[in-house]
Amino acid sequence: MAINYKIPEYDVLRDPQRCIACRVCERQCANEVHAFDPESGTMRSDESKCVNCHRCVTLCPTHALKIVKNPDTFRLSAYWKQSDIGEIYAQADTGGMLLSSMGNPKPYPIYWDKMLINASQVTNPSIDPLREPMETRTFLGKKPGRIERNADGSIKTAGLPPQLKLEVPILFSAMSYGSISYNAHASLARAARELGTYYNTGEGGLHEDFYEYGPNTIVQVASGRFGVHPDYLKTGAAIEIKIGQGAKPGIGGHLPGAKITDAVSRTRMIPKGTDAISPAPHHDIYSIEDLRQLVFSLKEATEYQKPVIVKIAAVHNVAAIASGIAAQRRGYHCH
Ligand code: SF4
Ligand code: SF4
Repeated sequence: MAINYKIPEYDVLRDPQRCIACRVCERQCANEVHAFDPESGTMRSDESKCVNCHRCVTLCPTHALKIVKNPDTFRLSAYWKQSDIGEIYAQADTGGMLLSSMGNPKPYPIYWDKMLINASQVTNPSIDPLREPMETRTFLGKKPGRIERNADGSIKTAGLPPQLKLEVPILFSAMSYGSISYNAHASLARAARELGTYYNTGEGGLHEDFYEYGPNTIVQVASGRFGVHPDYLKTGAAIEIKIGQGAKPGIGGHLPGAKITDAVSRTRMIPKGTDAISPAPHHDIYSIEDLRQLVFSLKEATEYQKPVIVKIAAVHNVAAIASGIAAQRRGYHCH
């Protein structure tokens, strides 16, 4: 049994009166929790490996097993809960990060109909929201240092760097075509147009059918450079250079060859059936100056008509990276 400081989450209770040492549980448990002790002729358990799948409980012929929540606890406080301390011990023990995709392991609402946009921090709150609707329109892009007005008092907007106009302050996260389906991309594109916001191609290029949604599309340039060509860049409303992403900071991507169908291969500009490997870093960006060069190239390619966004993950030194990007007078977006 491994020695560590993590309290097993579950207890494996075996009724010695019922257990006939048939070893079914030993054979069925994928996590090697059960083992037969030949000296005593009885079964032993290493509950630290149990994930409470209940397979052994179901298959035990004499109903000798129960899996129960382990009542043992750390010393808890209002700030430190059992799960927080347990995760720290697990990370210290394994050296690994707890990474999960598709949803939030905490009990937070995850449905769109429960999303609350509290606009009181971005504009004056309305006194009577029923008669005085709140403005959620948002513009993204570099703004001048001071407001200048025309002779009639209206604000001068001519000559501003390119801006993105959002009717709601929400952008769709990037998911590439190939990692998600044609229909999923079609849904995102249509929803973005309907809602007056933007969806993001991710790193897989833009299927020819979706060029018509260009005014609501952010086209991504990622480390694999899949599907990046002048028409792609010019079609999008903005270009996003993906350095990192919150879902898997510091990690590249791998789309298996089996998912590279005719249409995906054409869109990504790679041979059909080949693995699409995105390196973790951009192999032409190793400094802020290199990044500046890529921003410059993309602006040249699109004749300075498109905002260029740099997406970075919220890592510990995010402030230094973001200020390095902003210092070059470019837009940045922290995800
Ligand atoms: S399956 Fe049940 S009876 Fe068989 S060894 Fe395991 S606990 Fe004992
Ligand atoms: S509940 Fe699942 S993981 Fe736990 S001991 Fe039984 S078979 Fe193994």
